[in-house]
Amino acid sequence: MQAFIFSVAFMYRIGIDLGGTKIELVALAGDGEVRLRQRVPTPQGDYAGTLDAIAALVRGAEAEIGGDYTVGIGTPGAPSQSGGRMKNCNSTCLNGQPFQADIEALLQRPVRLANDANCFTLSEAIDGAGKDARAVFGVILGTGVGGGMVLEGRLWQGANHIAGEWGHMPLPLPEASDLPLPGCYCGRHGCVEAYLSGPALQAQYAAQTGLTATPAEIATLAEGNAQCAMAVLETYERRLGRALAQVVNLFDPEVIVLGGGLSNLARLYRTLPEYMAPHVFSDTVLTRIVPPLHGDSSGVRGAAWLWAPVTG
Ligand SMILES: [Zn+2]
Repeated sequence: MQAFIFSVAFMYRIGIDLGGTKIELVALAGDGEVRLRQRVPTPQGDYAGTLDAIAALVRGAEAEIGGDYTVGIGTPGAPSQSGGRMKNCNSTCLNGQPFQADIEALLQRPVRLANDANCFTLSEAIDGAGKDARAVFGVILGTGVGGGMVLEGRLWQGANHIAGEWGHMPLPLPEASDLPLPGCYCGRHGCVEAYLSGPALQAQYAAQTGLTATPAEIATLAEGNAQCAMAVLETYERRLGRALAQVVNLFDPEVIVLGGGLSNLARLYRTLPEYMAPHVFSDTVLTRIVPPLHGDSSGVRGAAWLWAPVTG
């Protein structure tokens, strides 16, 4: 009789997307397949409760999938370089808290953190719309405007953990219609985010028409040749083209993946290359602007991929 000893090392990557309203977990197998997906509401204004909710999700996943695993967490802000306390979280009770140390202590294991825009970019760079590119820039166009940089499969977070934060650069080449410079929640004026977020687009449409409409509704109106909707969207796209040209001039990614709610506007992929090209310091522009492959799942998938092996 022959004895067979099976030693199979199951290794999962657990990703957590910590949002303002929900906390989502996925467990990815080595090939990126989702083995488990769960979500719970985010305890509102309750830091300790948020830590407990994350720990309960992870322990539940551990019980369900078995085997070994890593944990990565996508957060709305970033750990500060001075002591690891959180900063730039726009809608949570995390700011000023030693979130990484606290969650590592609760889970008794190392945890990797990155902000949600970086997680989105990593997900799309590893096995999404930018998977064949060596340099990928991810753009979030939603309630806020953010971004992330992945170079040869590696997330580049930077010395201050703000790499890719193009949303708080000034809108380049402001025209008369861009003035006066709008205020931004960050305390500056004229930030890209103040022109290009979803709420900004809605406010621009409301200012022209006195009407309330979502970005998707504005796009539908434009398809029906409604003049105001067409004009507002064209202005939006010209601004976005100028802003992305600066990203290209600095980082020169092969692929720009759009994410966030406004990435669902199909017309952006037609119009942006034309509006961007004149402002890029090159006679030809090969940069592709593409929609995300994983859509709303990219943030949580990217959190899991924070433990991806770095190649290249
Ligand atoms: Zn700003």
